[in-house]
Amino acid sequence: KEYTKDDIRTMIAEENVEFLRLTFTDVLGAIKNVEVPVSQLEEVLNNDLMFDGSSIEGFVRINESDMYLYPDLSTFLIFPWATDSEGHQVARIICDVYTKDREPFAGDPRHALRVALDEAHKAGFTKFNVGTEPEFFLFKLDEKGNPTMELNDRGGYFDLAPLDMGENVRREIVLTLEEMGFEVEAAHHEVADGQHEIDWKYADALDTADKIQTFKLAVKTIARKHGYYATFMPKPVAGINGSGMHVNMSLFNKDGNVFADASDEYGLSETAYHFLGGLLSHAPAITALADPTVNSYKRLTPGFEAPVYIAWSASNRSPMVRVPVAEGNGTRLELRSVDPTANPYTALAAMLTAGLNGIKEKLEPSASVDKNIYLMDEEERRRAGIKDLPDTLLDALEALANDSVVVESIGHHIAGKFIEAKKIEYSSYRQFVSQWEIDNYFDLY
Ligand code: GLN
Ligand code: MG
Ligand code: MG
Ligand code: MG
Repeated sequence: KEYTKDDIRTMIAEENVEFLRLTFTDVLGAIKNVEVPVSQLEEVLNNDLMFDGSSIEGFVRINESDMYLYPDLSTFLIFPWATDSEGHQVARIICDVYTKDREPFAGDPRHALRVALDEAHKAGFTKFNVGTEPEFFLFKLDEKGNPTMELNDRGGYFDLAPLDMGENVRREIVLTLEEMGFEVEAAHHEVADGQHEIDWKYADALDTADKIQTFKLAVKTIARKHGYYATFMPKPVAGINGSGMHVNMSLFNKDGNVFADASDEYGLSETAYHFLGGLLSHAPAITALADPTVNSYKRLTPGFEAPVYIAWSASNRSPMVRVPVAEGNGTRLELRSVDPTANPYTALAAMLTAGLNGIKEKLEPSASVDKNIYLMDEEERRRAGIKDLPDTLLDALEALANDSVVVESIGHHIAGKFIEAKKIEYSSYRQFVSQWEIDNYFDLY
């Protein structure tokens, strides 16, 4: 919603808002915030609020750490859950990060997505529409309020209560999201025990990325109220499905969805095929951003409805990209490799840029795969031109470092900081000895 400064002043006065949270996202995708009392409102509205960015992951060195937060007024909202007994409320505004010289900060992921969207506009596209399907698990809290590894229920796909104990939490999450301006389209139990999914209406990528961040905060907050702990970790429990965050995307120009062509057998236009070609050819590098944790690669394994191969299909759900049945403006590509640990800003910037690169270079996708890829052997896959997604975070990082298109899509500052931080994460993981190793090697050797 577009708000003027006066709208914000009025809402703050009328709704008894006492504190303002200025939020932004760091390179690793974590939401950060500075809370200020409303007495600072004019400073905030004039883009004069400074903060010290030196301790923020992927930001800057100590000697150049003063930065400004520029509030994006359209993202103003009052947290529905933070009202105290006297009716005081807390609001938030998502901010863009600027340097002390008042330039957009190159380490701000939201800025990277803005730049990618500008490139799309220059190429004649008015919108990059994105709808996501984040999944998450609910675990029980113990008496002290600490999370346990006990799942909240034993429900399965689209189950009803009493199997689905998440029903009440999910409803409250949905109602809360609606209060915060989400148009929720579906909320259901997912395949695994304790696993849930909530989908809302697609929007331009920046709005969707902002909403993903807000969504995670809302889910975690409401779950806790109900005695549950929500996690977006991709594979919290071995042996059952993990949590993905499928990304449905389409490009629009002034005439509508440029992916649609009713005369094609899958309803896709030339432009859509080239975009798809871009997604497939840059898939390994995109994976570093779409699946950015060690744990992400435990989800991308055969047998759990998550993709393992770089392929696409209109009829089959196992490949990385699916073409959902839809017509006209609903025509879209669904990237199924993404998980909810992705920084939505950089991941979407990478997907858009890879797709635009496909359009520019007229990249052709490999043939659609209509068989279950998991039933094909290596030789069959090779003949069909189907490559593997990266196996580990380390492989994905290497693919990212070697893909200049995807590096450019997030900028060298972010790419450098991201790869550096993630390599440290990977090497810390490598030093850990897991239960699996004890179980398999201890007695054997
Ligand atoms: N949980 C699956 C994944 O990891 C998706 C299952 C589904 O939405 N059908 O992507
Ligand atoms: Mg879904
Ligand atoms: Mg799902
Ligand atoms: Mg899906």
